[in-house]
Amino acid sequence: MTPIEITVEFQKRRKKWILVSIVCGCVFVPLLFTLSSLEGAGLSIGIIALVLSLMVWSIFTFMIYTCPKCGMVPFTIYGQGGIILDPDRCSQCKSSLNPHNL
Ligand SMILES: [Zn+2]
Repeated sequence: MTPIEITVEFQKRRKKWILVSIVCGCVFVPLLFTLSSLEGAGLSIGIIALVLSLMVWSIFTFMIYTCPKCGMVPFTIYGQGGIILDPDRCSQCKSSLNPHNL
């Protein structure tokens, strides 16, 4: 794979991942706010749905949002830490992942 192919492939994966994040967020965020008003069976279902949407999102992140070269999810340990939304380079193999580097 050439550096250009890696960048192009990563951008495709990033678009898919953002879509999945929006879909999961549409389930997760409203659930989070309605959870306090739920009781009994509704509360149990709410918590299960919340955990499931988080799990689906995590699985998709590790499946899709990875560096095409080494398969690592771009994350940072600096600042608050976490997944980088618009990474410049892969944190593992230093491949360029951003089109403006080309
Ligand atoms: Zn990499």
